[in-house]
Amino acid sequence: MKKELSVIKDFPIFSHKLNKKRLVYLDSSATSQKPKAVINEVKRFYEQYNANVHRGLHSLSEIATRKYESARMKVAQFINAQSKEIIFVRNTTEAINLAAYSFVKPKLKRGDAILLTEMEHHSNIVPWQLIARETGAILGYVPLNNEGRLDMTAAEKMLNNKPKIFAFTHVSNVLGTINPVKRLVEMAHAHGVPVLVDGAQSVPHMRVDVKDLDCDFFAFSGHKMFGPTGVGVLYGKKEHLQAMEPVFGGGDMIKEVGFASSTWNDIPWKFEAGTPNIAGVIGLGAAVDYINELGIGKIKEHNSILLNYLLEGLKKVNHVHVYGPRNPEEICGAVSFNLGDMHSHDVTSVLDGEGICVRSGHHCAMPLMEKLGISSTVRASVHVYNTKKDVDALIAALEKARRIFKI
Ligand code: PMP
Repeated sequence: MKKELSVIKDFPIFSHKLNKKRLVYLDSSATSQKPKAVINEVKRFYEQYNANVHRGLHSLSEIATRKYESARMKVAQFINAQSKEIIFVRNTTEAINLAAYSFVKPKLKRGDAILLTEMEHHSNIVPWQLIARETGAILGYVPLNNEGRLDMTAAEKMLNNKPKIFAFTHVSNVLGTINPVKRLVEMAHAHGVPVLVDGAQSVPHMRVDVKDLDCDFFAFSGHKMFGPTGVGVLYGKKEHLQAMEPVFGGGDMIKEVGFASSTWNDIPWKFEAGTPNIAGVIGLGAAVDYINELGIGKIKEHNSILLNYLLEGLKKVNHVHVYGPRNPEEICGAVSFNLGDMHSHDVTSVLDGEGICVRSGHHCAMPLMEKLGISSTVRASVHVYNTKKDVDALIAALEKARRIFKI
């Protein structure tokens, strides 16, 4: 194994124990830990220049506004977008809802199709179900094959129906499968179908270039990429954003307000009604700086080496069944598995006693569980602060679980 990145000292949480054991955090797909650089930037905002943005003419408000808008530029550069194409929201969920209600819903008529896939997180299913219920649109799901990859032939056929949107995840939060976004976008656009990509699990791990992907919308959360909770991003192509109506009305999203009607601010502010999560956005800017310092390429390499090591380790534990592609080149961030017929919650509670955090359950992907014919999995996910030692601890704890439950 190549030299591991040595960043654990950047993350204060690892100086604390869990259940009197060394903390082994293998749940970054749920949320990542936060480096000092991000924590300190949020603290600095509240201690040194806390003020509302875009409102005051006083210097403090100017500093806060400058920092807030400079975070937007950092995020834009990070995914190769223009800053006016970056809308700050609360999380991936809100980003998808915003696109669903503002871009897609006005175009829907009874019987129109909305195309998703069988590997979506609830965040990329439920908003579409809501607007389908209101409009009479019909949901379709591109199926998965037995290896946990999208059936591209079926996708092509379903795109023939000319759905009003094709919304799919870049990386599965359960199987880790990396979807061929560029190819899927090309296929969709050839049928005149716009695309929304759920990037919650990709942006924290790999270089994302929205111009190169050519997707129409791209949604992600700050908290999975070392940023604070409560801040997320909707990227949208500027021509779409300019044509869209806002979903939320209030302060900051207007140009003029009269008793009878109002006019809207320019993009992106047209979609940011009310006081935003200023500290969160500034913290996200610091998270982008942190990733840039480490290098997203190095992060990807580190995480894929660890996933490979994890897959090799799991192979040695009897009765482990891994779901999804087994080739570390084809997955990103996470591996899901079950141990014999043990319930995933039982496995997790043995691991917890050893100071190891993994996630168990349906991972907000109940339809995918149904497809796999199971009710839950254990999911171990890695990030930049994990090491081989963490994987060794997980494997040893799984052997302990086998002994306790006599598997
Ligand atoms: N999509 C995917 C693929 C995810 O993994 C998650 C988070 N688990 C979400 C959407 C939702 O993210 P958030 O809860 O931050 O809105």
